[in-house]
Amino acid sequence: MIRINEHYLKLQASYLFSDIARRISSFQKNNPEREIVKLGIGDVTRPLPEACIEAFHAAVDEMGMESTFKGYGPEQGYGFLREKIAEHDFQKRGANITADEIFISDGAKCDTGNIQEIFAADISIAIPDPVYPVYLDTNVMAGRTGICKDGRYENILYLDGTTENGFIPDLPERPADLIYLCFPNNPTGAVATKGILARWVEYARENKAVILFDAAYEAFIRDEEIPHSIFEIDGAREVAIEFRSYSKTAGFTGTRCAYTVVPKTCMAYTSGGEKHSLHSLWNRRHSTKFNGVSYPVQKAAEAVYSEEGSVQVKVLIDYYLENAKLIRKEMTDLGYSCVGGINSPYIWINGKTDSWKFFDLLLNKAGVVCTPGAGFGRCGEGFIRISAFNSLENVQLAMERIRKAV
Ligand code: PLP
Repeated sequence: MIRINEHYLKLQASYLFSDIARRISSFQKNNPEREIVKLGIGDVTRPLPEACIEAFHAAVDEMGMESTFKGYGPEQGYGFLREKIAEHDFQKRGANITADEIFISDGAKCDTGNIQEIFAADISIAIPDPVYPVYLDTNVMAGRTGICKDGRYENILYLDGTTENGFIPDLPERPADLIYLCFPNNPTGAVATKGILARWVEYARENKAVILFDAAYEAFIRDEEIPHSIFEIDGAREVAIEFRSYSKTAGFTGTRCAYTVVPKTCMAYTSGGEKHSLHSLWNRRHSTKFNGVSYPVQKAAEAVYSEEGSVQVKVLIDYYLENAKLIRKEMTDLGYSCVGGINSPYIWINGKTDSWKFFDLLLNKAGVVCTPGAGFGRCGEGFIRISAFNSLENVQLAMERIRKAV
């Protein structure tokens, strides 16, 4: 008899986005003339930078000619892209990462979801709350948790984000083997200083743990003091893996390109205590289950590092950052306390009531859609997330309406 992976039955159905959609459609039915401004979903709205489009077109033309046609590429990604990444994203910032430690992929979602496969089933996992749900759900699927009770899975060490700690979780009270961190954070927009990351690196080194560092939003960092990579911290090469994405950096959410950095010095152990390189395990996994990102997409991603490309990417991110600044200022002026919106496209707002009540208020009175914080974990209750991914005109309109509504 064929049987299912019963761990899937423990997964909590995510009602978040379907609930949001249901409330929007009921609002639209009752207010057909009212235009809604959507500041809920974390998807970009501006087109690809011109340099990426040009490189993309040129690479498609290459695929159409016998002399330049490409079949399967290297599973780990083309050298031209991996070398640019190593130089521009790491070495220029003093992080000692080489091209052969970089694995190109089609998304940080799949990489952050798939990475847990290379670790044992019975390790202890520390996951922040509130959180990007992929980290949690993929560990549930793999059988690392018990059932979900009162919104929390058994066997997960939750790292609480609270107003008191500024949504930067403290070190776990019980030993953790695998730790998920994300800065700048989705959903809270919080960023971590070098000092904070250094404490986590020290913890991981002392406990023979590994940190999975999701830096999908690093391009939004403008503050010189904030690290873009965990590899800017001494000692991180032995205990950390980092995830990056062109999705938010360069508008690639629909184009798909990302990468994961697994330093060759990053190790984990067998039950007998024998050391093994996570780089070789991930390389084995990646080349067995993945066949590479398309050549034109990798050429488009490479253009991010060209002279024109880097200027265009900066302009693109600055556009969203201006939106974020405006949202944060307006909400603060209205008396709401906010995290994020600086070095981040997300503004995390204490709604002073429950998440869904505040969501309904903004929808029904202002025609503005946000995301209720409770959808990201128990600690998100009472908060909402507003995203800066929209046009400046729409953000201005949304803020004007919220001002009148509250
Ligand atoms: N990591 C975080 C924290 C995200 O918020 C997202 C997307 O919203 C991703 C990863 C996914 O990135 P990608 O589009 O590269 O799959």
